[in-house]
Amino acid sequence: MPADKLLKDVFGFDAFRDGQREIVDAVIAGENTLAIMPTGGGKSLCFQLPALMRTGVTVVISPLIALMRDQVRGLKAVGVEAGALTSGNTEEETEAVWAGLEAGTLRLLYMAPERLSSGGTMQMLRRVGVGMIAVDEAHCVSAWGHDFRPDYLRIGELRRLLDVPLAAFTATADAETQVEIIEKLFDGVQPSTFLRGFDRPNIHLAFEVKDGPRAQILTFAAARKGQSGIVYCGTRAKTETLAKALNDARHTACSYHGGMDAENRRIVERRFQQEDGLIVCATVAFGMGIDKPDIRWVAHADLPKTIESYYQEIGRAGRDGAPAETLTLFGPDDIRYRRQQIDEGLAPADRRAADHGRLNALLGLAEALVCRRQTLLTYFGEDPSPCGHCDLCDKPPETFDATTPVRMALSAALRTDEWFGAGHLIDILLGAKTDKIDQRGHDSLPTYGVGKEFSKNQWQAIFRQMMGHDLMRPDRDRYGALRMTDHARPILRGEASITLRRDSIRNAKGSGPKVRQLVSEEDAPLMSALKAKRRFLAEQAGGPAYIIFNDKTLIEMAEKRPSNLDEMAAIGGVGAKKLESFGKAFLEVIAGAVEDVHPMRRKLAGRDEGAVYDRLLAAQTDLQRGPDGADKPMSCTASMLAKVAQLRNADQAGLSRLMGDKYADRFGDAFLNILQED
Ligand code: ADP
Ligand code: ZN
Repeated sequence: MPADKLLKDVFGFDAFRDGQREIVDAVIAGENTLAIMPTGGGKSLCFQLPALMRTGVTVVISPLIALMRDQVRGLKAVGVEAGALTSGNTEEETEAVWAGLEAGTLRLLYMAPERLSSGGTMQMLRRVGVGMIAVDEAHCVSAWGHDFRPDYLRIGELRRLLDVPLAAFTATADAETQVEIIEKLFDGVQPSTFLRGFDRPNIHLAFEVKDGPRAQILTFAAARKGQSGIVYCGTRAKTETLAKALNDARHTACSYHGGMDAENRRIVERRFQQEDGLIVCATVAFGMGIDKPDIRWVAHADLPKTIESYYQEIGRAGRDGAPAETLTLFGPDDIRYRRQQIDEGLAPADRRAADHGRLNALLGLAEALVCRRQTLLTYFGEDPSPCGHCDLCDKPPETFDATTPVRMALSAALRTDEWFGAGHLIDILLGAKTDKIDQRGHDSLPTYGVGKEFSKNQWQAIFRQMMGHDLMRPDRDRYGALRMTDHARPILRGEASITLRRDSIRNAKGSGPKVRQLVSEEDAPLMSALKAKRRFLAEQAGGPAYIIFNDKTLIEMAEKRPSNLDEMAAIGGVGAKKLESFGKAFLEVIAGAVEDVHPMRRKLAGRDEGAVYDRLLAAQTDLQRGPDGADKPMSCTASMLAKVAQLRNADQAGLSRLMGDKYADRFGDAFLNILQED
């Protein structure tokens, strides 16, 4: 079967996503491949589909048991024979895998890298006829990355031993990691390499300045009630207080952080994976193990560490391609905290400088004046146009030439020898009378009272933005006093000007991003009913809801409202196996009671042969008692009709062979007419 047909028939997808086809073609052709694709880009399909087309079993090396089990479950749900050998297996599961291997029916075998350290495994793989190796999360071979898994280093050995093509997949794209992957997995020989862009167009991007952050998070969550989301928090304590606040507001929320014991962490991971609509308030410890495709939103209650971590964390949302929302909160304290964290870290000086740079890139994004996505993707080396799908595209910010106030602020800092924080500097600019100003005689400075045209709040926003543009940095040796950076010199000297946002000052108490429903108001009740059916079926099966159908598929059902199995088969995500297992149940939700069709006919749903079958059936009914209605009644079985419908290059002789002379006499001419119509 060609790749396109497998894509629809087995996986239920109408088209390849960006970049998938090239990778699939290369993998099918047996090339060594390295594919770098953003999270949610659809990497798994790029080895799962070729696995069905190549001879032998495909060995998939994947770092996490939970992910493997999920993929195996997903594959079985679409009718593909797959299994995993993990330490979490029951005896029966392991036996079934072995049986499938021995019989040569298993298409995909998932395995943790640790298995490779036992010589027995390597020999077993040699014996069972492996057709190719797929490596998920290939960056785990990188000794420098934070996901390093020493056993990944054995994969190169496995490839040499089996001498089969290897396809490696990762979402981590920096050049060093790539070089290491090629060295460790491909013995330094450049594989066919595919780099897909970083854009995740279905994710809406938004930042807000903190202003009553708890209320901001609650407002954001309230507008997305019932949808699965993650709130990333800077501290363990905050994960707990926020989860409580959300529960008090009648959400279902729990917390997750590295201080919890392993058992409780696993419980949260499992609940999140399976339940529809759970919110997890977590530290960044909630990370790689999450493979849930239908996370509808991600909020940051605190500023992430760097632009890379921001991208990775928001990237967990919307992997199924359906709309997803993000909101990142930040404030001057976050900036101070992140700077301090870098300065106090143990990294060598050049590494610290690089980290400041990556934090600057994130702050630049937070304080951006134009399209967020453009700013983000430009950082990753792309050259996009404005996206129309971020808060700044939704509502362009009001800006003003802030050169004069910025110079005032810099001058206030310099004239007090860079020993003070924003609070005191603002008091000076506003001409306030405080004890501190009195004691230090700061009321005699030339900058005293020169900034009265702005309010205290406005000055705070200006200082925050100055920190965001890295014009001033808190100095830990001076208890956080603000010091000017080299970036600020041209502005101070009058050689450069600077534009800042005005609305982030005035709209700090904004109404939050606009609520985006998954479907229109008109389709919403049907969508809820479809979700309820999905939940019911998932609970019966004891698996996560998205294994039945993902959100994107339900959205399409709610919008297109298929009224029979043929129309149902045309929905994205509905392959042959799922149509068979769940088609009727969901049709009943959409269209009420469904006319029962013969199982033979159901198998043809969504295919041209289905319509041919219907016409054959009609012709047969007409001819039941012969052309004149006077003969002995005769009718074909459903399976005979299905065979006829699928007949290629039909002629009278072929029909006789298939149906027997008696039936061919009665129905042959009429059937041939139908078969030759198209
Ligand atoms: P990744 O591993 O790259 O993060 P996955 O392989 O988990 O992404 O795929 C993410 C989601 O996209 C899954 O729900 C998958 O079913 C879906 N998907 C993959 N390819 C397609 C496609 N061609 N059309 C529609 N959905 C797809
Ligand atoms: Zn935009």
